[in-house]
Amino acid sequence: MTIVKNSIATLHYTLKDDAGEILDIADENNPFLYMHGVGGMIPGLEKALENGSAGDHIVVSVPPAEAYGERNPNLTQDVPREMFSEVDDEEMVVGAQFQAQTDQGVEIITVAAIEGDTIKIDGNHPMAGETLHFDVTILDVRDATEEEISHGHPHGPGGHQH
Ligand SMILES: [Zn+2]
Repeated sequence: MTIVKNSIATLHYTLKDDAGEILDIADENNPFLYMHGVGGMIPGLEKALENGSAGDHIVVSVPPAEAYGERNPNLTQDVPREMFSEVDDEEMVVGAQFQAQTDQGVEIITVAAIEGDTIKIDGNHPMAGETLHFDVTILDVRDATEEEISHGHPHGPGGHQH
């Protein structure tokens, strides 16, 4: 069976950035399931997995345009420290990430800099602007169930999880 629209694929992968630093891992303890062709996967990796089958090993580098997009400098802004009054000083460090309610829904913001009582926050996706280097093994490919197709996402071995 090969990966086509509405296939459910189970993957192991290692994701690294240009510097070779590991950004994410899905290993045997935590395999990654996705449904093919429904927009739940970054386009560059989805394209590389198309028509793959169990046992395939795929190494692919995905440029930002086919991953999380280029960084948008307009998404950074300075906010007063009091906006994060519930955050302890130890947690308020460069690189810390928080959820913020915005006009576009809940987004992840990253602390880009701290200058006294001013916090520079960055609303770009943490992987925006990054070329993503994937090393993927396809463990399993199956058809989605009708329930999964109607939900638009895979259900794990225990059934519905959303
Ligand atoms: Zn569901």
